[in-house]
Amino acid sequence: MAFHIPLSFPVLNGNENLYTQQALSSGHIATFGQFITRFESKLSKRLKTHESVVLNSGTSALHLGMVLLGIGPGDEVICQSFTFCASANPVVYLGASPIFVDSEKDTWNICPEILEDTILSRISKGKKPKAIVIVHLFGMPAKISEILEIAQKYDIPVLEDAAEAIGSKFQGKACGTFGQVGVYSFNGNKIMSAGGGGALISNDTNLIQRAKLLSTQAREDLPFYHHLEIGYNYKMNNLSAAVGLAQLEQLDSFIKSRRLINQRYRKMLKNFPGIEFQTESDDSYSNYWLTAILVDKEKTGFSNEQLKDSLMKKGIESRFLWKPLHTQPVFNMTPYYGGSMSEKLFENGLCLPSSVDLTLQHQELIVEVIHTELSKTFK
Ligand SMILES: *Cc1c(COP(=O)(O)O)cnc(C)c1O
Repeated sequence: MAFHIPLSFPVLNGNENLYTQQALSSGHIATFGQFITRFESKLSKRLKTHESVVLNSGTSALHLGMVLLGIGPGDEVICQSFTFCASANPVVYLGASPIFVDSEKDTWNICPEILEDTILSRISKGKKPKAIVIVHLFGMPAKISEILEIAQKYDIPVLEDAAEAIGSKFQGKACGTFGQVGVYSFNGNKIMSAGGGGALISNDTNLIQRAKLLSTQAREDLPFYHHLEIGYNYKMNNLSAAVGLAQLEQLDSFIKSRRLINQRYRKMLKNFPGIEFQTESDDSYSNYWLTAILVDKEKTGFSNEQLKDSLMKKGIESRFLWKPLHTQPVFNMTPYYGGSMSEKLFENGLCLPSSVDLTLQHQELIVEVIHTELSKTFK
């Protein structure tokens, strides 16, 4: 096979084989089995104050979370614009409308000042937002203190899309545990994978009980099929849970590796003009799922796109950052508050390879490509 450095590839060196074999031999490969229970209890134990339900995707966890918050037709939900479409799509599934808000320059996540302006503006138009969706992109905690203060001031619940931020912390507390409900994703390229899947977490036991009911078609606990409300087929299956549990056992070592990779990039690129990273504040601890950089073309002489092409020619995969949702054709009628921060992030940003097993030699190779680009400009 040709030389290739992937952006982010799962490492499956733990109990993945053992557990999936056990799941297969037990015959329980569907939405019932010991690995589902074990995965949920290990996750809840890790979170201490919170309970969890594991589901078949992060997107279904977001959807259920919004159902639990009572979002319905005609409601407005504030959402960070600079994110993956799955943060906002469930708002539309429920007949509600997203209201997009710009990012701030440190964490690249939702800007607290613009968030407050947005709330005031929507209230003045006659509709108080029903919820605020915040995201911790690439694992970096958003400005949580400021956001929570605003959410409390206006009494609006927060749904935390921590799909990319399992294991990240803010003031020593796990990302995902700050909102009324929190969501993780275990899809193929996240920091830990279950093949596909997600989790919904909350410190409200009743909410999690209700999520468990709704995720199994709202089937009541009776000897016959009996339904009091409309549910969803959203539970995780036992085979995915077997992989997820094995991955969760290794999460801390994954984070250690990803953080080391990030540190190395920062060190190796420190003296490069025009290359910037997300800012991790003293309160924050990012899992550094992906290391992302901003390329200031004025200073480097090359664009993120040129760099992406040069990396690709050497077999190195990189990826653009999220295209802001307010610039997506599908959301072109959606209100947007803010300036051009998120667009600037998209126009200049690039995610660099960040797999757990990325070697120092490979990182040096990647940095060498950046160096060559630079010397092309300034020779
Ligand atoms: C991955 C991701 C999701 C969706 O998770 P899936 O498991 O792929 O459905 C939601 N939000 C963000 C920010 C993500 O990165």
